[in-house]
Amino acid sequence: MHRMQDFGETIFAEMTQRALAADAVNLGQGFPDADGPSAVLEAAVDAIRAGRNQYPPSTGFPDLREAVSEHQRRFRGVEVDPVTQVMATAGATEAIATTILALCEQGDEVVTFEPYYDSYAASIALAGAVRRTSVLRFPDFTVDETSLRAAFSERTRLVLLNTPHNPTGKVFSRTEMDLIAALAREHDAVVVTDEVYEHLVYDAEHIAMASLPGMADRTLTISSAGKTFATTGWKIGWITGPAELITAVRTVKQFVTFSGGAPFQPAIATGLRLPDTFFAELRDVMRARRDLLVDGLREIGLPVAVPSGGYFVVADCSAWGPDGLTVCRELPAKAGVAAVPVSAFHDDPAAGATLVRFAFCKQPAVITEGIDRLRRTFSTA
Ligand code: PMP
Ligand code: GLN
Repeated sequence: MHRMQDFGETIFAEMTQRALAADAVNLGQGFPDADGPSAVLEAAVDAIRAGRNQYPPSTGFPDLREAVSEHQRRFRGVEVDPVTQVMATAGATEAIATTILALCEQGDEVVTFEPYYDSYAASIALAGAVRRTSVLRFPDFTVDETSLRAAFSERTRLVLLNTPHNPTGKVFSRTEMDLIAALAREHDAVVVTDEVYEHLVYDAEHIAMASLPGMADRTLTISSAGKTFATTGWKIGWITGPAELITAVRTVKQFVTFSGGAPFQPAIATGLRLPDTFFAELRDVMRARRDLLVDGLREIGLPVAVPSGGYFVVADCSAWGPDGLTVCRELPAKAGVAAVPVSAFHDDPAAGATLVRFAFCKQPAVITEGIDRLRRTFSTA
């Protein structure tokens, strides 16, 4: 199909295959290597045994929608009606694709930041829409107001935001969020905000776009259970926002998957209601892993951007090869470690050419082993 001709196999699939072939430590694709809370896993087993194995409603079981609504109130201070303003999706990926398909006409423009999560470009292309980007630059990844303003036009329909951000680990500041909100209002655009790492924030404050004054009416918030409960393979996500926009997205979703993940939905409802201690411990565990990886990469001599949130650390690997893609293609066989080139998340290949993303959602021993292997391969001492 012409619209998809620029899209081959995803960078995650390619690097995971290389990792498997070389028996490498996989610091590439972002998925946890241990199970999440047992209460959530047990709830799924119970749900299967209780026969919750047939189609849920296309918006999701009422109990999950209520749990999402409670979660938005508890953590974000945002009120959403569980009946009309919440819908379950097959992960955040389906939420992003169906939202863009539902809201964009051919030729409409979507403003986003690059580097961007890879499915954004593909979903925008599927809808026949046009992406307009503003580059976040290593090592601070600060929003450049001039280029952001220039990305808006009279064709802007959506702003697609991701905070905490993949791949950079950036958590957008209040000033940056206010600027994005003001531009969206000025251009009468809807903000679609991907907050899948909302509970993985280390030394910053996660600000939900829907919680900013005047933004709830024009914001669709997307999140997912995958990162918070270490259930990336369950593919339970959700969207919250104005009822008429949810209805539009649901109309598309009905014909993409209709619904999914029946026994996982009550399990994630259980997860969303876990006590504050669960969410605080998750943050502390992941902060320690971030520090382990950041310190290790620095010791090897790489310039590193310390992430405030998310699963990933971006480092400049220009010392290891001509560009990040070459480095990452060679790394599994050469060093026994897999990583992902940041150029895969860019329109402008020059912008992230030498940058490489390493995941820290792994056991500490795995991170340490990865660092040891890199040290042995690249140590000049
Ligand atoms: N958005 C971002 C920023 C992500 O990093 C990911 C997955 N890593 C997704 C969306 C997809 O989430 P899901 O697995 O729930 O589809
Ligand atoms: N979101 C994960 C990452 O950024 C990968 C998801 C996928 O493989 N599509 O690594």
